[in-house]
Amino acid sequence: MKRWVSWTLGTMAVAIIVYVLIGVDVRPHVEYTEEPWAEDTTTVPIPPPTAFGVPMEGMVLREGRVKAGASFGALLSAEGIKASVIEALVQKAEGLFDVRKLRAGHPYAFITPDSTGSAPRYFIYEADPIQYVVFHLLAGAESVTLGQRPVVFTQHAIATTVTGALYNDLERAGADPVLAVLLSEVFAWTIDFYRIQKGDVFSVVYAEQSVEGRRVGTPRILAARYTSGDAVKAAFRFGEGDGASFFDDEGNSLRKAFLKAPLKFSRVSSGFSSRRLHPVQKVMKAHLGTDYAAAYGTPILAVGDGVVEQASRTGGNGNFVKIRHNGVYSTQYLHMRKILVKQGQRVQQGDVIGEVGSTGLATGPHVCFRFWKNGVQVDHRKEEFPSAEPIADADRVAFNALRDSLGSRLDEAQLTFAQSRTVDF
Ligand SMILES: [Zn+2]
Repeated sequence: MKRWVSWTLGTMAVAIIVYVLIGVDVRPHVEYTEEPWAEDTTTVPIPPPTAFGVPMEGMVLREGRVKAGASFGALLSAEGIKASVIEALVQKAEGLFDVRKLRAGHPYAFITPDSTGSAPRYFIYEADPIQYVVFHLLAGAESVTLGQRPVVFTQHAIATTVTGALYNDLERAGADPVLAVLLSEVFAWTIDFYRIQKGDVFSVVYAEQSVEGRRVGTPRILAARYTSGDAVKAAFRFGEGDGASFFDDEGNSLRKAFLKAPLKFSRVSSGFSSRRLHPVQKVMKAHLGTDYAAAYGTPILAVGDGVVEQASRTGGNGNFVKIRHNGVYSTQYLHMRKILVKQGQRVQQGDVIGEVGSTGLATGPHVCFRFWKNGVQVDHRKEEFPSAEPIADADRVAFNALRDSLGSRLDEAQLTFAQSRTVDF
């Protein structure tokens, strides 16, 4: 829950990258639908006579924001709160809230009796858009409690045609544009986000949290569908919490497992290591790949679906091919005798992309297989890849029901979209 709520800078950075990557410069044109679907019934707005759970009769509320360098003690002393009270509060807060963690820019409030010369009775610090901490400042009755603003959960369905950057299309459609990032993650294994075309349609059902009418946290995609011409790809979220994953209409995982090695029959002749004696140069060097020895001409296979990013030659690598599988993973195959693919070519897992050779710095025929994760070379034999298991038999019925109900929500969103397009033209 907390992780879902947190709005990470990382996500924003990815959002900007996606914004740049999937931009196509075309005429803006957007259709969409959006409607609240379900509300959490346990949440109601705070009625006016209380603030942060404190009865406000005869009280006044004064709000501010924590300034850079301000401390809990300094903030309270400035209001005339005695050192003994501050000390008691620090102790009471232990285990609940670390008073050293007041963050600059966060809102706070003092609640003071509505009579001249009175010291504040309560101090409230807002830890995030949902959680706040109430410090009761009355000497002898000091206490610290945690409170929460009422959170409203809503589900939305939206369909948008790609006219330019998906990020912009979603924003214009009234959705949180971060959905563009989330969609690229959901479909990382099934859609090449570099090749999205204008006129392609995304429909999404997602859940959102809001506090007092403001969106908080990151939305969660429950189902999505991508339509490009006749090609339709769907994704349905199934499972609980971190165990949840996305599946297609048939219940197959949207993730794909990589082949364990780029050769059918092979033996590792040299493993991944941060330090080894280079067989040709005779110096200690990192070996950021795994060598598979095989006879000249042995077919080299793409370990997963992807696009050939490079098919070229350098002095050290010899003839090599690099494949981009999705936004996270790329693989590279060195020392080929012969390259059998071209740059920009789309390949499927198991396709033959070249032949084993010893071009470049190599002592004998082998493939040096290199594996990138988020731009960093890693030892693929030590990586834990996401599960690519289909829906378990025991979950079939539940999955099918969920798929059907979310599927009709996607249909509705797309239908509304189609109708508005009919009207437009
Ligand atoms: Zn190697």
